[in-house]
Amino acid sequence: MRQRVTILGVAIDDIRMDDALAAITRFIAEGGPHQIVTVNPEFVMEARRNSAFRRVLAAADLATPDGTGLLLASRWRGTPLRERVTGIALSERIAAAAARCGWSLFLLGAAPGVAERAAAALQQANPGLRIAGCYAGSPRAAEEPAIRARIAAAQPDILLVAYGHPTQELWIARNQPLLRVPVAIGVGGTFDELAGVVPRTPALVQRAGLKWLYRLVMQPWRWRRIMTAVPLFLWTVLREGRAFNPLHAEE
Ligand code: UDP
Repeated sequence: MRQRVTILGVAIDDIRMDDALAAITRFIAEGGPHQIVTVNPEFVMEARRNSAFRRVLAAADLATPDGTGLLLASRWRGTPLRERVTGIALSERIAAAAARCGWSLFLLGAAPGVAERAAAALQQANPGLRIAGCYAGSPRAAEEPAIRARIAAAQPDILLVAYGHPTQELWIARNQPLLRVPVAIGVGGTFDELAGVVPRTPALVQRAGLKWLYRLVMQPWRWRRIMTAVPLFLWTVLREGRAFNPLHAEE
């Protein structure tokens, strides 16, 4: 039974981090393919104009609430999402669980060398963690068969894809059915943060729900994206309140 909140047409699972890890454990036990999406306000805004992305989000086996804006919007409407489950926090908790349970990870995407550095950071924090492979590659369609062959040969339990949204979610939806990977997750800028390519958001800023403001200060060239992510999203939720459905339970 999934408890979901629908915001501007995108359904998000009302789950905590521990529930997400329990779901991943179940997905690996069942075998693949399962797609996890970490939904933030930018995803919701993109889904409004991109029907292929909207369909992928709707079909995901788990859609975690990643972003203060979503929690705020859900609270306004009296159906609060309980906890933020971000791509980076989820990746770190997955790495810890993987080291314990013997799952292996494949890191796909980001600039050349970044996935390797992100994997090294995860291994340093989690001795014994098995990295099945790292590859920057590119999301271009022509590369898909070669990348699939590489991943299939590595046989990971979990595939983390950092090609940015919506590209990474569409890539997973197209390719995962052809791979034997139980769990695949689009993780955006997570490898960059783990590898130290972009500054890590301080824990206090994270907890205060101000990651968007921190990013605006540290990466001002992203202002347009950040304005879409928070103020424009919240304004749209207010304006189109009717499009927001109350909490509903589903099979
Ligand atoms: N990226 C990539 N190939 C591409 C486009 C993007 O490897 O063709 C990587 C980029 O290097 C970065 C990540 O995808 O590591 C995108 O991070 P961002 O924070 O922009 O993700 P988003 O918030 O869009 O999901």
